Amino acid sequence: MFDYSVPPALRGQVREGSRVKVEFKHGERSGYVVAMKATSPYKLKPILCLEGEREQIPKGLIWLAEWMSDYYCCPKEHAIQTLLPAVVRSGEMKHKQVLFVSLTIKAMAGGEDFDALSDKRKEVISYLRREGDTMLTELVSTGIVSASTVSKMCQEGWLKKELRVVERDPFLNDLVQRDQPKDLTPEQKTALDAINASLLAVDSQVILLHGITASGKTEVYLQAIATCLELGKEAIVLVPEISLTPQTCERFRSRFGDLVSVLHSGLSDGERFDEWTRINEGRSRIAIGARSALFAPFRELGLIVVDEEHETSYKQEESPRYNARDLAVVRGKHEKATILLGSATPSLESYYNCQQGRYKLLELTERVDVKPLPNVQLIDMGLEAALAGKAQIFSRQLKDLIFDRLQKHEQIILFLNRRGFATQMMCSKCGYVASCDNCSVSYVYHKHAGTLNCHLCGAEKLAPMKCPQCDDPEIRYSGFGTEKIESITQALFPKAKIARMDSDTMRAKDSYKKVLESFRAGRVNILIGTQMIAKGLDFPNVTLVGVIQADIGLHIPDFRSGERTFQLITQVAGRAGRGDTPGDVIVQTYTPDHFALKFAIHHDFKSFYDEEMISRKMLDFPPVSHMAIVHFRSREEALAAAAAEAFADELKPHLEEKTQVIGPMPSPLSKVQTYFRYQILLRGGSIRRLSRILRAMIVSRKQPQKVNIYADIDPRSLL
Ligand code: ADP
Ligand code: ZN
Repeated sequence: MFDYSVPPALRGQVREGSRVKVEFKHGERSGYVVAMKATSPYKLKPILCLEGEREQIPKGLIWLAEWMSDYYCCPKEHAIQTLLPAVVRSGEMKHKQVLFVSLTIKAMAGGEDFDALSDKRKEVISYLRREGDTMLTELVSTGIVSASTVSKMCQEGWLKKELRVVERDPFLNDLVQRDQPKDLTPEQKTALDAINASLLAVDSQVILLHGITASGKTEVYLQAIATCLELGKEAIVLVPEISLTPQTCERFRSRFGDLVSVLHSGLSDGERFDEWTRINEGRSRIAIGARSALFAPFRELGLIVVDEEHETSYKQEESPRYNARDLAVVRGKHEKATILLGSATPSLESYYNCQQGRYKLLELTERVDVKPLPNVQLIDMGLEAALAGKAQIFSRQLKDLIFDRLQKHEQIILFLNRRGFATQMMCSKCGYVASCDNCSVSYVYHKHAGTLNCHLCGAEKLAPMKCPQCDDPEIRYSGFGTEKIESITQALFPKAKIARMDSDTMRAKDSYKKVLESFRAGRVNILIGTQMIAKGLDFPNVTLVGVIQADIGLHIPDFRSGERTFQLITQVAGRAGRGDTPGDVIVQTYTPDHFALKFAIHHDFKSFYDEEMISRKMLDFPPVSHMAIVHFRSREEALAAAAAEAFADELKPHLEEKTQVIGPMPSPLSKVQTYFRYQILLRGGSIRRLSRILRAMIVSRKQPQKVNIYADIDPRSLL
């Protein structure tokens, strides 16, 4: 950040948020005005000129960036950068322009000269009279005229060519059908009334809409947005990137048409630029997108919806390490907008906030058409192993039900939250385990590609045919991922058509859409996938969901592992029986007595909450307290350790008595991408105070040599 003076000619025009051109080092650069000051300790150069008429960043967003920088302990530059898509920031993207052909006054008037023209030329002119101004490419493609004749006719004074701005419309080829608001169920109506009351009130409210899957939350969002628009205000809808499916977007576009801007990662730079501009110029009134859509440059914000508010993907894992759900509350309050958080499995943080009276709780307890929830069974895989004499991947129940559903031509989803074929490659003779050179984890074997892959850093190498350590050919592969499930399923049910959806098979841009389309059309019987398929999908013909191994997430050393497992199982279970036939869900596990699983299969959030809160309270973990982690990374382990020790020694005297310090210690993932990692975990006491201290020690001073130090406030992952 640098200071500049406002020259007299620009006084009154340059404001916070303006985009300006300044002299910087040896050239001219564009930048944004983030604050106006009366004085400066430096000798100042003047701003050269103002770029763009409209202030580029709304004031409220500049305030939000300051808040973010303070709270999340990050440099202000990072926070400001987050406000704008890179393509807008760069200032290089221009509006798309194309050549249009139109008639001159002479051509419109007709007269003797016109009558003397060749038939060919008359035809061109009457075409344009009939159709109006036309893109040059379109005119040429009709076949009535060539580009060179158009040029000649321009010289002769019949036609004009000019560049005009057009929008790149990502939905150009998707025709959406208009739909109407549905008549609400009594529960939905009660919820909508409460939300509308908040929209009408002067002071904004934070509302948590806790509704089981298919209880009609999205319909409530849609009608709340309609109210918001009627009041002349704008709305932001945040969804996890993973559920930013064509299905979701379509629901908003078919209700609100062109008033919607969809911001997803698949947009080209040009499309992103256009959407951002449409919002900035007030032409679109609803922005829907993943976490960065929170920074949509609206000026009359009335409502922010955060769907699936418990999702971890709302947290950005690089600086600024903000949580869009929490920041939505901050932005909403500052701009007096209503904040609506929705989930079937709320985060403990949000539910706790309701219990504390900070948020208002609304509930939807029934599926819209009173369809019964699926019948969920826990299968004890330990018992299955004992009966079969060895560990099993499919229980008898699951196999029988798959067979049954295939016969009835109904569809099946199999879920396993781990990709690849085998999770470990081990030599049976010397015990060598193939693990990544850069990271402290073992390689995962991908059979189709014949490779060993590190799921942390992406490293990949050819799988060896014999042990690299002792040359023994007896290599054992153990553990399994989606790739193996696919091949076993195919072997068990040779006639079934199977598709797999995970980040290995979904690398191409459109593959997600394609697989879902063929599943919807019934060309695929069994869909196998990772968490990619757990959310938001709505397939009426799916009557069986199998969770292959429910305890995968349960043993991660993280206090939220129970909460995550509960969420995941509940969400997956909600995928069955969305149509007229009630569904079955089979959950295979080695820990059938775990309360997270027991409550998940009964869709019983409250009991889960009560039981989980007992230990959170006892240990003073979030949501009862706030947490922060200070991370230390270095290529040299000793440097990371020493930096962490020194940091802790300096920090401790400044802390409140209530704040507990754990560490310094090596992080659970002690090495990632060649960097050794140490951490200090802090919790309890005032988080604002803690942030201030950490900011002073991290952001406002130079870092030690060869060590990277940063803070993660309210972390979603402890690894
Ligand atoms: P959720 O977001 O809670 O999972 P949805 O809003 O997707 O639930 O609703 C589930 C299904 O019920 C959707 O197909 C939706 O169109 C339909 N639906 C929602 N509300 C109503 C209503 N009041 N009347 C009829 N159908 C509804
Ligand atoms: Zn690695």
